[in-house]
Amino acid sequence: MKPIPLDRRKFLLGAGSLVLFAGLQPGRLWAAPEFCGYPFALGVASGEPAADGFVIWTRLAPRPLEENGGMPMLGVAVQWDVAEDPGFRRIVRKGEAIARPELGHSVHVEVDGLKPSRPYWYRFSAGGQPPSPVGRARTTPAIGEKPKQLRIGVAGCQHYEAGLYTAYRHLSQEPELDAVFHYGDYIYEGRGKDDKFVIDAAGNRMARQHVGDEIYTLNDYRRRYAQYKSDLDLQTAHAAAAFLMTWDDHEFDNNWAGENDQDGAPPEVFALRRAVAMQAWYENMPVRRAQFPTAQGIRMFRRIDYGRLLRVHLMDTRQYRSKQRCDPSMIGRKPCRPLDEQGPEQIIGDAQEAWLGEGLKEDFGWHLLAQQVMMMPYRYPENRAAGAINTDSWSGYPQARARVVDLIERRAKGNVIVATGDVHKHHAGVIPRDPNDLTSKPVAAEFVATSIASGGDGSDMPKGWENVLAENPHNVLFNDRRGYQVFDIGRDEWKTSVIAVDRITEAGGKKSVVAKLAVERGKPEIDKA
Ligand code: FE
Ligand code: CA
Repeated sequence: MKPIPLDRRKFLLGAGSLVLFAGLQPGRLWAAPEFCGYPFALGVASGEPAADGFVIWTRLAPRPLEENGGMPMLGVAVQWDVAEDPGFRRIVRKGEAIARPELGHSVHVEVDGLKPSRPYWYRFSAGGQPPSPVGRARTTPAIGEKPKQLRIGVAGCQHYEAGLYTAYRHLSQEPELDAVFHYGDYIYEGRGKDDKFVIDAAGNRMARQHVGDEIYTLNDYRRRYAQYKSDLDLQTAHAAAAFLMTWDDHEFDNNWAGENDQDGAPPEVFALRRAVAMQAWYENMPVRRAQFPTAQGIRMFRRIDYGRLLRVHLMDTRQYRSKQRCDPSMIGRKPCRPLDEQGPEQIIGDAQEAWLGEGLKEDFGWHLLAQQVMMMPYRYPENRAAGAINTDSWSGYPQARARVVDLIERRAKGNVIVATGDVHKHHAGVIPRDPNDLTSKPVAAEFVATSIASGGDGSDMPKGWENVLAENPHNVLFNDRRGYQVFDIGRDEWKTSVIAVDRITEAGGKKSVVAKLAVERGKPEIDKA
């Protein structure tokens, strides 16, 4: 292990804001790496597809759960290849990137120069070790083009302790995926009791527990991501398609809102935790340098266009939101705003609202609002008597919701679909113009995808929820099993397949299609497909 001092002349040539990304040598480079294990134990990922490329990602961690993933605090040169075929006979792009200790030895390469609307295969290698697993990603259709069909998976909420990622295994086998939208809760920050286990394929008990206590430091977050990313089903899903990543609350702290954590820590103290959580998120996600963390946070809201057929608005419902309204069922210690407090009330913030309004003006076959928490009003059976709402959802921000509903109505043409996660249940419904009249004119259809793992095995209908559909006339579907959704997007019809897995606390869970739903363009209603 011989550190090479940085060539000072080279450093000066590259000085400036590009130094981080220009592929120059960091201060200390590990010239002839001898890893203490296979360096690609966290797999690979891709994201941010464009017509001419995408991001490819990996992170060197030969011993994922050990300090620094088993890596020395040195930079490592990582080679990458992109090919037109899975056997890498036709390599079309290749290069080298530096895995830096400052970034948890992660590598983010923005590949360009590719052809639109086609699959590519990519892999990494380092230090003469066997190469990484091979990943696959599709470029988007060219700007202005209108493809006949697109296929986008939806997944999230993957509490590791709650069960196996069998749903990801099934998702990775879905044919012809253009991308997977991830609505967040990629990791969970807490620590459960020491009794979490699953039954493996051989019928044996296998512990499935978070390593370490609740996470606060950069190394804590890095290790939690490393533990999650060690899961082979998750790796297989990433290798199958580009992911459109967002975050929700658990990448930071349960139900955080802007400058507030859920326990009422002073904002300047939570800001420190938020900053390291953002850095760890960046390090572990296949995102562009536009999402690099800064003192102001990460600009996570952004768009991905698929020719003229689909515009995906990837949204951030956490970073700019006001504190949740006080809910009678909330414990007193949590910071909240009085229920009758009048604005200004934010869930996505002024800048993002303006950005969304601009984005909706442009003419696309469909606009997908890819976000996290339920936008439509909802009557919950559990707290019906108290008249309580889910204060962490858009229902807790009625003024902000009214502004966005208004934007959708004015700017779009009945071609807006909202994709949501968070509640660990499948729902499908419409967003009524008037939240107090669930049968009023709908402005958009909303598909809420269940969790990959959070909540455990679940059931089709939990006890006490039998009347949930009748009490929510704007809804057509409810299911409490684990799984994912797949959007088949055509020019005139949007189809959503709602997929459930029968068990995740035991290996071998089978998938089933709970429902196939359809929306006709221009008419925000949901029918059985
Ligand atoms: Fe969750
Ligand atoms: Ca959540």
